[in-house]
Formats: sequence, C-alpha cells, structure tokens
Amino acid sequence: MNQHTRFNLPICLAVEEDAFFHSDEIIRRYIPDMIGQKTIVVSEEFLIGIYREKITDISRDFGNAEIVAMKSASFDEAVAIAKKVCIEDIKVIIGIGGGRVLDTAKYAAHISKAVYICMPTSLSNDSLASPFSVLETVGAARKTISCKIPTAIIVDTNMIINAPEGQTLSGIGDTIAKHTALYDWKLSAAKTGTQVDDFAYALSRMSYDSVYHCDEKNMKSRVFIRILSRALVMGGLAMEIAGSSRPCSGSEHLFAHAIEEYYPDIKISHGMGVALGTIPACIFQGQSIDGLLGFFSTYGLDINPQSYGISEEMFADMWLKARTVRTGRITILDEIKHDRVQLNEIYARMVEGK
Ligand SMILES: [Zn+2]
Repeated sequence: MNQHTRFNLPICLAVEEDAFFHSDEIIRRYIPDMIGQKTIVVSEEFLIGIYREKITDISRDFGNAEIVAMKSASFDEAVAIAKKVCIEDIKVIIGIGGGRVLDTAKYAAHISKAVYICMPTSLSNDSLASPFSVLETVGAARKTISCKIPTAIIVDTNMIINAPEGQTLSGIGDTIAKHTALYDWKLSAAKTGTQVDDFAYALSRMSYDSVYHCDEKNMKSRVFIRILSRALVMGGLAMEIAGSSRPCSGSEHLFAHAIEEYYPDIKISHGMGVALGTIPACIFQGQSIDGLLGFFSTYGLDINPQSYGISEEMFADMWLKARTVRTGRITILDEIKHDRVQLNEIYARMVEGK
C-alpha cells in the first residue's frame, strides 16, 4: 500500500473548557453530516451516575441518543454493541469515559463501521487516539487489538481538571515513557536493518518534549491539561502513522506488562507502571536519569516501588519476565545481561528517589 494513504487522522480535535456542554456544536462545525444521524452514547454505570447531567445533556443534543451502560471492557461486549449498531442502523457512537469505555466503544465502532466520537472523562493513557483497543478476551486475559482511530476527539478541560489526580498522573507517565520507547525503536530498527518512520518519530518526540519541557508545573491548570491532551493524542497519531505501537512503547512498557500479567495483585495504573519502567530502562540504555527524576518529583509522580508493594525480589523478577512478555519486540533488554546486583542498586535508587 502507498505510504501516504495507509493512515487516517481524526477530523476533529477540540480541547475546550466545558466542551461537553456544546459537543453538538463542535461536531456541527467539523462534520455537519453527522448531526441528525442515529447515535448511541456508550458509557459505564458508575460514570453515568457521576456525570448524569452532562451525559443526559449530550444524549439530548444528539437527538435523544440512547445511553448504553457497557457491562465489561471485553471483546464480547464490543461485539454486542457493534451488533446493536448494525441491526438498528446506528451511524454514530459516542464514547464517554476512561480507557475502558473508550477502548470498547472504539472497537465497536471499528467493526460496525460507525463514526466514533471519543469524549474522555480522564487522561490516563494514550489509547485516546491510538489505533489499538485493549480488551478482555477470555477471563481476565487482555489483548491489544488494532482498530480504526476516532473520527473526532472532544476534550473538556474542566472535566479533566476535576478527574481523580491519579488518572492525570498516569497520563503523564504514559507520555514520559516515549523517551525510552523511542530509543528502543531506533535500536530495533538498527538491529533489523529497517527504518523508523521519521514523521511518527518526530510526533512522538514532540509529544514527550511538550510535557517534559512544559513551563506550567501545575498539573491541575487548564494550560497543562491542554498540553497533556494534545501530547496524548499526538502519541496515538504517531502509532497510527508508524502502523505499530513502537513510537510509544518500549522496554518500559514491557516492564508494565510484566506487572500486569504476572503480578495482577499489584495495583498500579498503566501510566505509573510505565513511569516506574522508564528509570531502569534509561539506565540500561546508558542515558542519564537526573532529568526524569527531577520531572517526576516536580509533578508528584511517586516512583518508589515500595509505594506499590513491589519488593526488591519482585522488581528483579518483573525485569526478568519483561524480556519474554512480548516476544519478537527488540528492545535494550535484548542487549543487556540480567544483572541482579545492578537491579538491586537501581531499586535502592528509586526507593530514595535519586
Ligand atoms: Zn502506554
């Protein structure tokens, strides 16, 4: 396929104060054809409880769109929603929620070929605009499945400012992970004699830079939320352009996947898991960690493994498992020996935060 036609970009990226109160006007501005089309709103029971007024308002603005409370963030649920969409001639799916809702609604839209409007209630990771959905498959097992990116993304800055702080911290962590992910991507390209996609690389680098070098140190400010929203969306687009998650996911993500798959009792958000992974990944890559440590402390990202119940023993085992959790993905972990003494030293540094 032609390099220049293999990807899609969203038609609309609106990051505005109180955007959820005039989402219909925003859509009318960008995709007027969608107004008046049969629409459903997909969310979750507890979110519909918390944001009843806003969600009802959005439903009314889109022709009294039916509000569907999804039961799980699973492949089966996405298929069930897609089935409803096809049978009832629904043309537009609006997803309102966090990662679980957005991934399920995105995949339902992908299989039913409906237009997908993504309206996040928190900024916890870059799946917002990515061409992937993480869905439960059998039992608690989850799989990352490729799909079409959203047609429109509407971020309400007021909504995000009021979201739980942990969600925003997770979004910051997922953005900072691009630093080590990009190193690993280049390394993999050099090893396999392939080429990184320069444009995807630049987008992901800019996404990282915009947050890492941000002058606004208050993560609850409108300015910061706007920068973070765009950074997460740019990360998603970098993946779409590259046709893989490599611009945003390297050894630090393998570490987070190892926690998820082998230590399901450890309660840590995706973004914080990868943030924890960036420090050792940086050291393995021979990069300085001083800047990152300073950044994490400025925004209050706690990278002490003990805070999450991760012992020195578990930490070393997680890095051992990280080597095999996604086979076929070349990272710095393929270049270094598993060194228990070094891992214990890194663990101690992370506990002390320096
Ligand atoms: Zn991620």
